[in-house]
Amino acid sequence: MIISCKCGTQFEVNKNEIPKEGRNVQCGICNATWFQKPYEKIEKINVEKLPTHYLANFFLLFLVLVSFVGIMETFREDLLYNFSELEIYYKFVEKHSEKIFEEIKNLLNTFGI
Ligand SMILES: [Zn+2]
Repeated sequence: MIISCKCGTQFEVNKNEIPKEGRNVQCGICNATWFQKPYEKIEKINVEKLPTHYLANFFLLFLVLVSFVGIMETFREDLLYNFSELEIYYKFVEKHSEKIFEEIKNLLNTFGI
């Protein structure tokens, strides 16, 4: 890996020379010393900061939707018994489920799945 001193000099050092917890190093040009951490740690933080992939977000939303519809179907009778207003929801799902399923198919096709 390459480490840089504040004077601008860069040094090629062996990965094994910098332990996980870091160590003090000294510049051979200006004699400055600093605490050097291995780059792996910095890279890991950067990866975590990256936004989640769009497809992963879509898939998560899809899973949540499928779970929601599944739960609603599982407890359909109990829910309808206690909340008769939900009949509107079930009628809506029945009416549009075929269309929604086709839309999902089309979306998956555009992603090449
Ligand atoms: Zn230096």
